[in-house]
Amino acid sequence: MLNFDFHNPTHIAFGEGRVADLDRLVPAQARVLILVGGASAEKNGTLAEVRQALGARTHATFSGIEPNPSYETALRAVQQVREGSFDFLLAVGGGSVIDAVKFIAAAVHIEGDPWSILEKRGRNIARAMPFGAVLTLPATGSEMNNGSVITHRAKGAKLPFSSAHCFPRFAVLDPTKTYTLPPQQLANGVVDAFVHTTEQYLTYPVNALVQDRFAEGILQTLVEVGPRILAAPEPVYADRANMMWTATLALNGLIGAGVPQDWATHMIGHELTALHGIDHARTLAIVLPALLNDRRESKRAKLLQYAERVWGLREGDEEARISAAIERTRAFFESLGVPTRLGAYGLGAEHVDAVVAQLEAHGMVKLGEQRDITPEVARRILLAAL
Ligand code: NAP
Ligand code: FE
Repeated sequence: MLNFDFHNPTHIAFGEGRVADLDRLVPAQARVLILVGGASAEKNGTLAEVRQALGARTHATFSGIEPNPSYETALRAVQQVREGSFDFLLAVGGGSVIDAVKFIAAAVHIEGDPWSILEKRGRNIARAMPFGAVLTLPATGSEMNNGSVITHRAKGAKLPFSSAHCFPRFAVLDPTKTYTLPPQQLANGVVDAFVHTTEQYLTYPVNALVQDRFAEGILQTLVEVGPRILAAPEPVYADRANMMWTATLALNGLIGAGVPQDWATHMIGHELTALHGIDHARTLAIVLPALLNDRRESKRAKLLQYAERVWGLREGDEEARISAAIERTRAFFESLGVPTRLGAYGLGAEHVDAVVAQLEAHGMVKLGEQRDITPEVARRILLAAL
């Protein structure tokens, strides 16, 4: 096992009806700016419930944080925070709202242009405003981690940052808040959580036995509940609860402690979102099968373990088992209605160079746990994903 630090300060309030706990979780004297995405939180009543739970506290709402939250919108929120002297931020939504709130919380304290946060990947963050989250979309794990991804629309750049100052103080996880999600977002959530897990599991072995078992448990749970959630005519609480907690566990630091991490699928995927507007999880479903196939030598031992423990594949020689595991992964995504080919979005070989150029422009030239996914390798992976 590799050396590691593990510190996760986010308080989780899990279960039906827990939005009422905001009264206990948000400081009594706080001046609260609630941040939401488009219309969903208003329409399904979550926003009204949040406002009621905040009681007599001063609060206002900033709405309009878009999926793949933009730097431009976040800057408008920073201005509202300053003008209204708010001292607590409350994200109500999915990963996009929570990611934006992390950026806003840090940007308020940055001198000069806060785009520097992305350029320095968060290393220039010395402090951030306190914030909490009410999660409405299980997918990203952002509710219990310190990472965020922000898009600069004008630059066409989607970049990540992280900081020890950017953990949510708390996250309310009420599975019933996911009942209004459309099938596409439910499927996206399953795929995003799945790929967060493979990024930390399908690398090379370091004898991290319990992390491996945790990761395999997360993957198996997603394979079990994902299709059931999409097929159910009415939401089933137990399945939504399992989905919600599983997605959080996939990226809250636990399975990543003491293991090598890949993240190349995410970095290549971010460029596809920035250039072509494809949903985050849908970019991952395109890249992952092709990447695993390309990296089958360096990931060999873990791919064989994955084949056996997640998919029950024990027959055939090593190459056949690895190929079958990659095909099962692809078929799982497709069964959720998530395409695994660039062609499904009308993209062909002529679009690949621009994606590779963006990776180079963003310094993403040595990706993966071995730092060997160069722009040339990324090009090969994208061409294999046509
Ligand atoms: P999202 O972009 O937050 O939300 C997608 C859509 O779902 C929005 O249109 C939203 O509508 C809708 N929605 C949310 N909750 C809903 C509900 N309960 N009922 C109905 N509709 C609902 O999706 P996400 O997948 O959670 O977040 C994706 C972003 O997170 C990407 O930018 C990705 O790069 C990033 N990400 C972050 C991390 C991390 O660790 N920080 C990890 C992976 C990905 P409204 O706008 O109307 O609310
Ligand atoms: Fe992700």
